[in-house]
Amino acid sequence: MATHEKRYVIIGNGVAGTTAAETLRKNDPNCQIHIFTNEPYPLYNRVSLPRFLQGVIGEQKVMIRDFAWHEQRTIQLVTETLITAVNTEERVVTTNKGEHFPYDALLIASGGWANSLRVPGAQDAHHIYNFVTLDDTKTIVEQMQQSRTALAYGGSFIAYELCDGFAVRKLHTTWLMRGPYWLRNTIDSEGGEVIDNIAKKFGVEVIHGDEIAEVIPKNGVPAYVRTTQGRELQADMIGIGLGLTLNTSFLAGTPIALHTGILVNERLETNVQGVYAAGDVAEFFDIAIGRHHTMGTWDNAMAHGKIAGANMAGGQLIYDDVPTYTSPLFDVNIAVVGTAESNNPELQSIFRREPGEKGNENYRRLFFRENKLVGVVMVGSPKGRKKLVEVVKNQQTLATSAEREALLTLK
Ligand SMILES: Cc1cc2nc3c(=O)[nH]c(=O)nc-3n(C[C@H](O)[C@H](O)[C@H](O)COP(=O)(O)OP(=O)(O)OC[C@H]3O[C@@H](n4cnc5c(N)ncnc54)[C@H](O)[C@@H]3O)c2cc1C
Repeated sequence: MATHEKRYVIIGNGVAGTTAAETLRKNDPNCQIHIFTNEPYPLYNRVSLPRFLQGVIGEQKVMIRDFAWHEQRTIQLVTETLITAVNTEERVVTTNKGEHFPYDALLIASGGWANSLRVPGAQDAHHIYNFVTLDDTKTIVEQMQQSRTALAYGGSFIAYELCDGFAVRKLHTTWLMRGPYWLRNTIDSEGGEVIDNIAKKFGVEVIHGDEIAEVIPKNGVPAYVRTTQGRELQADMIGIGLGLTLNTSFLAGTPIALHTGILVNERLETNVQGVYAAGDVAEFFDIAIGRHHTMGTWDNAMAHGKIAGANMAGGQLIYDDVPTYTSPLFDVNIAVVGTAESNNPELQSIFRREPGEKGNENYRRLFFRENKLVGVVMVGSPKGRKKLVEVVKNQQTLATSAEREALLTLK
């Protein structure tokens, strides 16, 4: 046991890291807390970035915490500083500035870096953007004001949010994705059609089953892209949504067990005592489906932060939340609850598609494992979402198909 004030180090000041710092301060008033980020900002809301991109809100509304908030709680926020190494034997982290910070307990809440476009021509062209940070968003907003055409590339949330931003700002927008439809690992072709119809209503040209083969720059900026199917698509700017690579490279050489993310138990502790992981980077044990997985959602990261912070200060809390993701999707909403994986052979699914509001359709898909609801996707009306979250949480057995079908219309 430490004979000094306990020293906590947190890598990453996203919602997981900042929530953990806040929880630590509440649970251990005398401890030292250092929280590191390579970004220049205190916690801001990544979920609000799409609305900032669209021009619906300003930068102020994106910020959640300021430096004063940290000072008031004696939480040492160290910005523009990257942790480059962790030594679990000596219990010390090293920064890119060569400083060392010892810890009694460490939290890794480092999220992921956006994957970049790696095709011929992309490296030589400006105006190709990832969309993960506040700085990314500011740069894209600036460039949108000087562009007429835009390409959103990818089949997941970030690509549609880019697409939405481009279309709302009246750029001529093309949405290109490799898969046969959007969110191919969660919805099916019926849901994909519902999404396409919404995007088309906003003037977006949607192309599936094709990839960027090459970027053809002119004077250092993209003029158009050539696809593997031979299309030539004009784009003054390109927004990339090709997923994240989780930030674990600074753990090289440590005994911390890694898989897709950082493996943690139900208490969010890694295989190395005193080292925890939380948020997007944590591969946690999900008791609803009985296995480990990662989850890139705001609520999940915040809930992880609370649990990890309490456990670092000596608690024994177990993470058993149902992760949920809600987001605006053009003029409707999308909600994903729990484990909604169409590529998971252990899960059975049923769906319903029906007319909705504003000329859109509602689409609901439910995922079951051993007659228990484990996942939900809802496009359009969110009615019934809270009740469905409860059904997932309670692990209620739904023995008959009539009971399962009834959930498709639950309001
Ligand atoms: C544009 C966008 C829209 C989104 N919309 C939604 C939504 O509608 N609903 C939803 O539920 N979720 C949404 N998400 C996902 C959600 O924002 C994330 O799941 C959540 O923010 C993850 O929080 P985190 O604390 O785990 O990691 P992050 O927020 O990624 O924070 C990690 C921080 O650690 C820093 N870092 C990494 N490595 C180091 C290092 N070695 N040293 C120092 N600092 C380091 C990173 O730079 C970053 O600042 C969205 C994400 C984006 C990008």
